[in-house]
Amino acid sequence: MMAQYLALKEQAGDCLLFYRMGDFFELFFDDAKVAAGVLDIALTTRGEHGGEPVPMCGVPVHSAEGYLARLIKGGCRVAIAEQVETPEEAKARAKREGTPVSKALVARDIVRFVTAGTLTEEALLEPRRANVLAAIAPVRGSVGVASVDISTGRMELEECGEGALGALLARLGASEVIAPEGRVDTPDGAIERDAREFSSESGDKRLRAIHEVATLDAFGTFSRPMLAAAGGLLAYLDHVGRGTMPLLLPPVARDGEGTLAMDAATRSSLEILEAQGGGRRGSLVAAVDRCVTGAGARQLAEDLSAPLTDRAAIGERLALVGWLHEDQLLRDEVRTALKSLPDIGRALGRVVAGRGSPRDLGQLRDGLGMARQLRDRLRQAEDRPPLLDALLPDLAGHGALADHYGRALVTTPPTERAKGGFIAEGYDHALDDLRQTSGNARRAIAALEAKYRDETGVGSLKIKHNGVLGYFIEVPARHGDALMAADSGFTHRQTLANAVRFNSLHLHEEASRIAEAGVHALAAEEAHFEELVEEAVAAREAIARTAAALARIDVAAGNAERAAEDGWTMPEVVDAPCLEIEGGRHPVVEAALAGSGERFVANDCTLSETDRLWLVGGPNMGGKSTFLRQNALIVLLAQAGCFVPASAARIGLVDRLFSRVGASDNLARGRSTFMVEMVETAAILSQATERSFVILDEVGRGTSTYDGLALAWAVVEAVHDTIACRCLFATHYHELALLADRCEALSLHHVRAREWKGDLVLLHEVAEGSADRSYGLAVAKLAGVPAAVVKRARSVLDKLERGRAETGGIAAGLGDLPLFAAAVEAEEEQCDTLRDELRALDIDALSPRDALEKLYELKREA
Ligand code: ADP
Repeated sequence: MMAQYLALKEQAGDCLLFYRMGDFFELFFDDAKVAAGVLDIALTTRGEHGGEPVPMCGVPVHSAEGYLARLIKGGCRVAIAEQVETPEEAKARAKREGTPVSKALVARDIVRFVTAGTLTEEALLEPRRANVLAAIAPVRGSVGVASVDISTGRMELEECGEGALGALLARLGASEVIAPEGRVDTPDGAIERDAREFSSESGDKRLRAIHEVATLDAFGTFSRPMLAAAGGLLAYLDHVGRGTMPLLLPPVARDGEGTLAMDAATRSSLEILEAQGGGRRGSLVAAVDRCVTGAGARQLAEDLSAPLTDRAAIGERLALVGWLHEDQLLRDEVRTALKSLPDIGRALGRVVAGRGSPRDLGQLRDGLGMARQLRDRLRQAEDRPPLLDALLPDLAGHGALADHYGRALVTTPPTERAKGGFIAEGYDHALDDLRQTSGNARRAIAALEAKYRDETGVGSLKIKHNGVLGYFIEVPARHGDALMAADSGFTHRQTLANAVRFNSLHLHEEASRIAEAGVHALAAEEAHFEELVEEAVAAREAIARTAAALARIDVAAGNAERAAEDGWTMPEVVDAPCLEIEGGRHPVVEAALAGSGERFVANDCTLSETDRLWLVGGPNMGGKSTFLRQNALIVLLAQAGCFVPASAARIGLVDRLFSRVGASDNLARGRSTFMVEMVETAAILSQATERSFVILDEVGRGTSTYDGLALAWAVVEAVHDTIACRCLFATHYHELALLADRCEALSLHHVRAREWKGDLVLLHEVAEGSADRSYGLAVAKLAGVPAAVVKRARSVLDKLERGRAETGGIAAGLGDLPLFAAAVEAEEEQCDTLRDELRALDIDALSPRDALEKLYELKREA
């Protein structure tokens, strides 16, 4: 057994090996230690290996799913080794092979790998979250990325520059990433696989084979890096499924062009799908999501992760939301219909992966039937928006399949297929006959019981059934002798302490009929099951389209519902580089405040070409961050095709969205936080365009006052002069107000506060002009800093302020700085002169002494 175990463990590689032994999956050695730790179950030992006791733990097969889910969550991958023959078969094999039967070992094989990215089980998946597996293939400066959600079969191929990979992976939010082995730039946590699998030839070949086409042209144009990534992905799926491929829809080529670009730092700071602390609670998606189906929630998450940049496409989504927003009755009707809809996308995923159950088939039948009803209802509605008309045909077209399933399956098919009982009566006459036969036999057995009671006079005689004996006749021990008589017609089978069990010819006959009919019936049901599965597999693309259309309608209806709850409005999306938001609100902060009975103060934001950079000052806790983020979120929501939390919004399309938070809010991270802040800021300065929208929250805060102010100053100037994009910049450096005189498209704003009877009142209102004071001490008092400390701080502050009045403070002289653009230009001019001089130099003709002099001269100029 140890040899067999070790051979399987070798195949399992770095996955934990679940080794099936009877009713348990056992884990040994280090696997056992890891699993016992993650699962918090007892670690024991069994036998010895190399003189050492072998650590072991195990989980019962019937509840293995729950343990698997926890292991996967804990970051483990699992290989499942099942017994692939019965003990009887093992003995028979031993006999044939001439090995001692007593040592016969049941053959075992790894039947599948369970990994975070390749789950299909309902119990292991979160209904409202997509589960993505991604493969990356770096090819000369560019990276191909293939991603698939195998629970629904959606597959996308894309390509990006090396520098953009982080942002792309952040958008995908993959639960498992695989990469070719042996590269230095492999992302953290990625699983490395044989690099040869990541070839464009193999990707092309595998895709063509799966979709049975001669060329991929019909699906789109795929670059070599995309195909190489697909090659790696498909090889991995092949390996993990041990040859059974999951549901894979035709690949879609995706280019970053059509979507609003956001990097990983922006996503996490805007808390789109996850709040900073991790988890969905407190995230944007949680505040927006009113979908009634899991598939809708997954689609919404995807929309928010990848908002659009195409005005027409955004307009189509908005029109559908608007239509459902106006007609509350219809919206309620649609949402009620969708509520009872099964997750047909995921049911299809399981069916195609060969892990489907009769219940999954029942879900397809019900879901497709409901989709059709919904289409019929919506077709009667008036003034349908174009997007809906485009979706309606996808909701129907499954008449034959739904009809067939309707006839074939019972109303609520079971999750277990091995026991049968899912094929409906009247569908297969032979099956009905078999069932009738066993039904008759069962009745005959029941009749026998009465007859035998009569004949023997033992009123307590019973006919029972168990797994070992099958059917038997049982009487209490004191009546045993009466039935033992040779001519009684009963044959003795078993004597227990207080009962004796018998058989009879008649009973045996009837029992055999039941057993035989049962075996045949099961075989018939199994054959029908295969047939039904095949039909779903053949229709998989159309079914997936239906699932997608339903999800899209759910997203729109959910957003309309959300909008109706809190007076959200339809944004107007335009080309001009403006941002005009009236009465904007932060959906997450507002919801949190509502919980504590407080009111959120709505604020306007009006950026235009001539006033595109707002400096926002004001006290801590005054609402600066909230204001910045709410505007970024409103842009994001609008471009995702959602209504927005504002009384009116006119939004000029944004190509890239950046959000940065000064370092001290990020203390939890390992790297030097100021370094992180600067790396992230550097990315904005190199990637933002005129069409971007940038929010910078207290950038420069993570270092000394002088450094911080200097950097904040330079960053604001660069954003204003060089990038010229729309930007909100929150800061507590009053000195930056000086920039208002130098930058014509920059204006000053602040969040209002008041001191009332010595207490600070934060109004959370954004007003024009610079903040008059910082209220730092008042905030400290508000936060409960002891009065003596605040008092002492007050006298220190007075001293500092007197100093500032005399010297002009740390910003003294900043007004004399040359303008940013002029400074950059002067710098460049000087470089040009130096370059020209260097070019003109004939180094070979110089004596060592001349060379040295020249060097001194150049240094003086520099
Ligand atoms: P700052 O960035 O100025 O330090 P925040 O934006 O973090 O301030 O806001 C601090 C707190 O003030 C928030 O957690 C919220 O409770 C409250 N707040 C912010 N903006 C508003 C608003 N517009 N209306 C009501 N309360 C707000």
